[in-house]
Amino acid sequence: MLLIIKADIEPGDLDTIKNHIESKEAAYSLASTDAHIIIEIETNSHLFDTKHVAGFPGVIAVNRLSEPFPLAASKKGAKPHLIKVGNKSIGGDNFTLIAGPCSLESEKQIISIVSELKNADVDIIRAGVFKPRTSPYSFQGLGIEGLKILRRVTSDYGFPVVTELLDTRDLDEVYKYTDVIQIGMRNMRNYSLLKEAGKQDKPVLLKRASDASVNEWILAAEYILNEGNKDVILCERGITNPVSCKKTLLDLNGALEAMSLTNLPVIADPSHGAADNRLVAPLAKAAVAAGLHGIMVEVHIEPLEALSDGFQAIKPDNFKPLAEQLRAIRKILGGE
Ligand code: PEP
Ligand code: MN
Repeated sequence: MLLIIKADIEPGDLDTIKNHIESKEAAYSLASTDAHIIIEIETNSHLFDTKHVAGFPGVIAVNRLSEPFPLAASKKGAKPHLIKVGNKSIGGDNFTLIAGPCSLESEKQIISIVSELKNADVDIIRAGVFKPRTSPYSFQGLGIEGLKILRRVTSDYGFPVVTELLDTRDLDEVYKYTDVIQIGMRNMRNYSLLKEAGKQDKPVLLKRASDASVNEWILAAEYILNEGNKDVILCERGITNPVSCKKTLLDLNGALEAMSLTNLPVIADPSHGAADNRLVAPLAKAAVAAGLHGIMVEVHIEPLEALSDGFQAIKPDNFKPLAEQLRAIRKILGGE
């Protein structure tokens, strides 16, 4: 980070700036020209708030030379970060297909879906047992009992599983029964949950809040990385649509930006991104064609009977050809 300071700054004001930098234990160097004093903060510059530093008397400009998210940032020449789940990896040239119901509703329901997905080249099963619902009267998920069913059924069929963690109090149980921990869009800013997810060693699938900038989304990932967990999968799931009657807009621009700014795998969830079952297939194909690392799709045997998100779920019979098409698109583009 570079601070451009006027040459005739009061000595006391310059000391205040130096003391601030030293309080963050950052290394810096100082150079003077006739018109300016230039301070270059060499290490730990991510600990500084640009607006705060720009407000010190005598500071003319602040130029961030490094990313505000040093752990998530893509580094020159570095290999893409691969995340192992089951016997496959997410990221790099790998393409990951995640599918399953929005909510686990019963043992019978999850068996009926997972047994269909066994023939659809799916890598990971998804299903929520702790559901973040707008209304407290809507189905809230089967909780820990559901977790156990999910683990048993997916193990029987040989699948790894991803499920959402809503609350730090459930972390130990969710950790025990899942392979990947999902943090939903409502919790993208739940910093204590992000930190706890960063302290454990299972991969975290982090959804982007529908009103979050790409920067803010990556900073949420940085919270997890900063606690030691390197395995964060970013998931674009649609942003609030400002211009049409459709609720959400799958932001492929944002997902591609996250891919270029970080070394983390980035996937798309066209089910929540579309909030309309008719748009799921075209959006999924667009996301794969754009080069994203994977797709997560909600699948239900009887979408109209689903206890959550039925309007955006597709049936296994529609999912299977879609899965084949997605893999074919990926192959044309040179991926696995
Ligand atoms: C979900 O995956 O079912 C879900 C609740 O997702 P989101 O956090 O993106 O709304
Ligand atoms: Mn859902």
